[in-house]
Amino acid sequence: MSAAVGSFTAVVPPPSRRRPVARAARCSAAGGVAAASPILKNLQLKCATPLTVLRHVADAMAADMRAGLAADGASDLKMILSYVDSLPTGNEKGLFYALDLGGTNFRVLRVQLGGKDNRVVESEFEQVSIPQELMSGGTEELFDFIASGLARFVAKEGEKVRLHQGRKREIGFTFSFPVKQTSIDSGILIKWTKGFAVSGTAGKDVVACLNEAMKRQGLDMRVSAFVNDAVGTLAGARYWDDDVMVAVILGTGTNACYIERMDAIPKLQGLTNGSGKTIINTEWGAFSTGLPLTEFDKDMDQESINPGEQIFEKAISGMYLGEIVRRALLKMAEVSALFGDYVPDKLSVPYVLRTPDLCAMHQDDSEDLEAVDLILNDTVGVTRSSREARKIVAEVCDAIVKRGGRLAGAGIVGILQKMEKDSKGLIFGRRTVVAMDGGLYEHYPQYRKYLKEAVTELLGSEASENVIVEHTKDGSGIGAALLAATNSKYSTEV
Ligand code: ADP
Ligand code: MG
Repeated sequence: MSAAVGSFTAVVPPPSRRRPVARAARCSAAGGVAAASPILKNLQLKCATPLTVLRHVADAMAADMRAGLAADGASDLKMILSYVDSLPTGNEKGLFYALDLGGTNFRVLRVQLGGKDNRVVESEFEQVSIPQELMSGGTEELFDFIASGLARFVAKEGEKVRLHQGRKREIGFTFSFPVKQTSIDSGILIKWTKGFAVSGTAGKDVVACLNEAMKRQGLDMRVSAFVNDAVGTLAGARYWDDDVMVAVILGTGTNACYIERMDAIPKLQGLTNGSGKTIINTEWGAFSTGLPLTEFDKDMDQESINPGEQIFEKAISGMYLGEIVRRALLKMAEVSALFGDYVPDKLSVPYVLRTPDLCAMHQDDSEDLEAVDLILNDTVGVTRSSREARKIVAEVCDAIVKRGGRLAGAGIVGILQKMEKDSKGLIFGRRTVVAMDGGLYEHYPQYRKYLKEAVTELLGSEASENVIVEHTKDGSGIGAALLAATNSKYSTEV
């Protein structure tokens, strides 16, 4: 499958056009760097997440969850019913597919499930970057691109891959955007997030969009389960571990889901199902209460394609951390000559500094911060930086990433608190697993560390011993395939 490279960067001006620093603030290079210190101090102050702030965020998250469960539209948190009422048991058998549309990539996966003893006998996947132009094009173009990737994946299958005679290939479709679920295999897109602005999809059944595209591609597959990526992760992790109660995604964007009692969802007005439980998709990216935000967050939000929305997501997820840092560095370079007498033009390009760049700078423990120098040069066109300036850059990265990780940790504790309060002993009286997935959590060790520290600080060392926050590699893809099996129209149990 060809892998087009998607990015959020705009056109980069040529390096020769370097902007001079504002004359009033222009000063000698050394004095200039020092003048960045007050901006850094102010940023650290505004970003600080002491225990009181974390506690406030956790409590507000729990309160917003309750409001969202009470009535639609009553809270930032939509608390969407997933229609996943039964989780995989381990007995599922057969060949299943998953399609995972994230914010950066889409992945196609095939798994052969072998039942209780054999579990996942074989799996294969392919990943494709979503081209930038498709993120703001039309619905048909985006879904044709996805369906053609799926068709190529299926066309490459060898003789080994065998379906039962007369059966269609069944697929679990993981979709990482807010959807009003209408059944286990249908749902209406509420809005795009994470930089997507595809026209004509909001208000439509996403599965119908995929079905139409598959038809145009001559591909005869059946979507048996349509799930959010957090929901897929919970199902996938639960397949291996019965103690999984919550799943959190920290990738391009962020979301969380958890297992809820049907009788604790007032907006259902008494409606129930066989198991008495369901997975609730919180859509916590829209949370906004009590967050320590800076001028850089506010400006980024105002200039985003969804101003005023997804405020938690914009403070803690992978798409935005690099951009917040870029904005802070730009201000420092403008008023303090952080990088000399010129502001490199590339530093003014939105989203040019990406979260993986922060991560690489954050790993640099060399005396002279050589990796920081290299990345500043490669990504934002800083031709020469002093050691002092690099140190400031590293501290800006740390402040933003620390805030992100700690707020994510507070969000997790908010969910756990809500569950524990409703059913005493359910969470803190026993081993409880929070399944984590997404590129940010997977690849950024400092972010992970800050997140876990916040969980421990909030819960105290005793209660936090029972709470296991662990990465579930590829949970959402496998989880969707498992949910396709659980909701198969054919018999799949042994
Ligand atoms: P998606 O969000 O499309 O489902 P992923 O879960 O793989 O995809 O997350 C991709 C995001 O993870 C990227 O947008 C980036 O923000 C973040 N990421 C990827 N690699 C790294 C890295 N090395 N360090 C930090 N963040 C990373
Ligand atoms: Mg994903």
